[in-house]
Amino acid sequence: MGEEGYNVARYTGPVCRLCRYLEVKLMLKGEKCATPKCPLERRKSRPGRPGGHASAQRRKISLHGLQLREKQKVRFSYGVLERQFRRFFSEAVKLHGATGENLLVLLERRLDNVVYRLGFADSRAQARQIVQHGHIMVNEHRINIPSCIVRSGDVIKWQEASKKTECHQRLVEKIRGRATPGWLSLDEEKMTGRILTLPDKDDIDPIFDGKTVVEYYSR
Ligand code: SF4
Repeated sequence: MGEEGYNVARYTGPVCRLCRYLEVKLMLKGEKCATPKCPLERRKSRPGRPGGHASAQRRKISLHGLQLREKQKVRFSYGVLERQFRRFFSEAVKLHGATGENLLVLLERRLDNVVYRLGFADSRAQARQIVQHGHIMVNEHRINIPSCIVRSGDVIKWQEASKKTECHQRLVEKIRGRATPGWLSLDEEKMTGRILTLPDKDDIDPIFDGKTVVEYYSR
């Protein structure tokens, strides 16, 4: 798969292929990602491929290629189309502080990401579907826009009617005892989350390097 293959609309092929190509666990498949069935975990355990990065060591990648990869890593993790990603980047530029951190914090504040972080979905892709299907309320309003940006104090919960769905019933079982990021709180009984404070750079997944993404767009 060529690099340019990532620049078209949302990728619809096997998602594990994206992780293999970028050689990082993007956690796109929900529960499978944390099990030995993950192809990257299987690769790690193969002799001669320590850490699964042997191919990266062999391949020479240009600076531009590295910057592109970093951008794609973030974009695919959050499941955002290129055009929308650029829009987020433009918003991040306008904010005070480091643009790379602003970008990652904005992405973290997307409603689909918050639904995922609260444990209402196994993956961001599933969270996006749950939002698009109108199962989620923000401050008592049904919101079906995954890119909606949450604010401090917002209350995120399931629609009453959606609590009867099979998807919700399964989640109630799985969510018990699940760790929630410090900027969110979760009432497991009511399946209701609250934005306690906005995420900051310490809440960002350390696999992302916002500075390199900025360099990619600053060429
Ligand atoms: Fe990536 Fe998850 Fe597939 Fe592993 S199982 S390669 S982390 S999507």
